Amino acid sequence: MPDLPRLSDDCFALPEGTNWTPVADALAHLQAHMHCIVEAETLPINEAAGRVLAKDAVALRANPPCANAAVDGYGFAIASLKEGASQALHLAAGRSAAGVPFGRALPEGQAVRILTGASLPEGVDTVIMQEDVRVDSAILRFESGLKSGANCRKKGEDVDAGAVALQAGVALGSQQLGLLVALGVAEVSVYRRLRVGVLSTGDELREPGQTANEHEIFDANRPMLLEQLRAWGFEPVDLGVAADDRAVVEAALNNAVTRCDALLTSGGASAGDEDHMSGILEAKGNLNLWRIAIKPGRPLALAVWNGMPVFGLPGNPVAAFTTALIFAKPALAALQGQGWQLPQPFLLQAAFSKSKKAGRREYLRARRLPDGTVEVFASEGSGRISGLSWADGLVELPDQAMTVTKGDLVKYYPFSAI
Ligand code: AMP
Ligand code: MG
Repeated sequence: MPDLPRLSDDCFALPEGTNWTPVADALAHLQAHMHCIVEAETLPINEAAGRVLAKDAVALRANPPCANAAVDGYGFAIASLKEGASQALHLAAGRSAAGVPFGRALPEGQAVRILTGASLPEGVDTVIMQEDVRVDSAILRFESGLKSGANCRKKGEDVDAGAVALQAGVALGSQQLGLLVALGVAEVSVYRRLRVGVLSTGDELREPGQTANEHEIFDANRPMLLEQLRAWGFEPVDLGVAADDRAVVEAALNNAVTRCDALLTSGGASAGDEDHMSGILEAKGNLNLWRIAIKPGRPLALAVWNGMPVFGLPGNPVAAFTTALIFAKPALAALQGQGWQLPQPFLLQAAFSKSKKAGRREYLRARRLPDGTVEVFASEGSGRISGLSWADGLVELPDQAMTVTKGDLVKYYPFSAI
């Protein structure tokens, strides 16, 4: 495998003169500049769950591999049937069962016992359900009216041998694994999982179980982001906490480069005195501070540190989670060979009303109600981490000013679909 091209150092450079970048422009920039940075490997299909196909997966055999019965019943040639309302066919000795074929051709004028999934013997093109027949002394009796090909599955009617079953870039979930195995695929070419580091920054951060003074807080972002990355199919790498000190943050970035393909940091990303992440990225790592017209959100500190893309997320957990979902997720997926994935919204009736001003796209913590409408969290305060657990997704309101009245259709994205 040739060396994959690294990201260029200026891949996060937005066009000059942009002040508040609309979300759509920020995403379009990422879409244009993120590309696969991980190698492919060949894996047994049973070890490939969650991986992304590096090459199209081609059907090695047809599905179904041969014409077979869709029901338990009796098979015959439609040409054996006579004019008139009732039919009587001689029942041949033997049967065709799944995995144990009849083994010879069925003469015209006869019928054969056949079970679901069994291959159609030569001479059989139609199957009648066992519920619709009577058998007395080796004569099969039933009413006319069956169509040619009834209750039969044709060879390859689902997928032809040689057809592309799944395209490169598709992630292998349960259904995809089932399909490929059905098509005779035993090995797949997949990308290595993207190793994504998670680094928290801040002198105020404590670990779970530690004692914390009132002016200290527990590092909620790191476990939240690590688990989210795992659920998205990346390989999370826990890089701990860096203190608010430029040399410490720099050392943490250098450590990350040796262990990760990409990095999510939280905290210290703005332009304040104690924002050492943006400080060091600016001094030594081609920082691009993206001021995106989004709520909730703060500046995103994007940079390439010795070839490793860094997504400097805000410290506030709600903003960190939301910006990870909206920006980091599609970018990381592209770095892992998945191409650019657009989340598909549902249009749901609002169970709330709200007015918003022009200028920022807003993401509201939201959840569906049993009647199919969607409600939003009572407070938009981005310090309220409880709203993330309360919600099962986000409602997206457009950049323009708008008034939502109860019953209006709004765009809703379940967390699982982002
Ligand atoms: P910063 O972006 O560093 O100014 O942090 C913004 C806010 O987010 C502050 O209230 C921080 O205490 C809080 N914060 C930063 N990092 C974390 C974290 N890992 N977990 C929870 N809260 C955090
Ligand atoms: Mg901080």
